[in-house]
Amino acid sequence: MSDVSMAKGPKGAGPVAHDLVVLTDVNKHFGALHVLQDINLSIRPGEVVVVIGPSGSGKSTLCRSINRLETIDSGTITIDGKPLPAEGRELARLRADVGMVFQSFNLFAHKTVLENVMLGQVKVRRRKREEAERKARALLDRVGVGNQADKYPAQLSGGQQQRVAIARALAMDPKVMLFDEPTSALDPEMINEVLEVMQQLAREGMTMVVVTHEMGFARSAANRVVFMADGRIVEEAEPHQFFDNPRSDRAKDFLSKIL
Ligand code: ADP
Ligand code: MG
Repeated sequence: MSDVSMAKGPKGAGPVAHDLVVLTDVNKHFGALHVLQDINLSIRPGEVVVVIGPSGSGKSTLCRSINRLETIDSGTITIDGKPLPAEGRELARLRADVGMVFQSFNLFAHKTVLENVMLGQVKVRRRKREEAERKARALLDRVGVGNQADKYPAQLSGGQQQRVAIARALAMDPKVMLFDEPTSALDPEMINEVLEVMQQLAREGMTMVVVTHEMGFARSAANRVVFMADGRIVEEAEPHQFFDNPRSDRAKDFLSKIL
């Protein structure tokens, strides 16, 4: 773990490195459904937090709230000490700072792979095209799809598309990366090529929030597992503690069904 991570000091005790993502008493409803209930979660720089839990427990809503694809009803969310901006250029910059990778890839279908990875760099980060292209090609190489740069997303396999989506998010130099079930839509033989890219990122010290059902990844890459059920964080623990010795009945029940 990064050594800039440290416990929160008492107020007024001088500067401490703050947590990168902090959710405080966050609540959200969809109509009558209380989808996030008093969520408190702090993520330190360089930490990899894996979020698991049954379908419908609020994992996606949690991720989407962190980069303001959803608005919350109460509580606060800060990134790098700053509250989430509501709109405009500040919001675009937030979404660059908080990279998100979805289950469904979400690449621009009518743009080439290279253009997909350049676009945000030019529009949001205001880089020159030349610089953006250089960075895009380097990132595409890094995730193993450098030779696909001139193709369109539909010409790539699911695993390749997801690696392009990761490169596109990384091109913005994000402070934190959110992954919402990034391998759930993939054929089994493509899951590992995506998990390996994520493992590598984790090793390099990227701060990551990963919603996944890949328990092998959670065990090996996570610093912390957050278990959600019915809109609440029910349990938080280091992976070996969570998997080998879960405390809550909800977690025991969930693990008995998936392991
Ligand atoms: P998870 O990712 O853990 O499966 P979600 O965050 O997607 O859970 O959803 C939590 C609950 O909120 C589910 O019951 C889901 O049906 C509901 N929900 C999610 N998005 C919306 C929405 N836009 N409008 C209404 N209900 C929603
Ligand atoms: Mg989900």
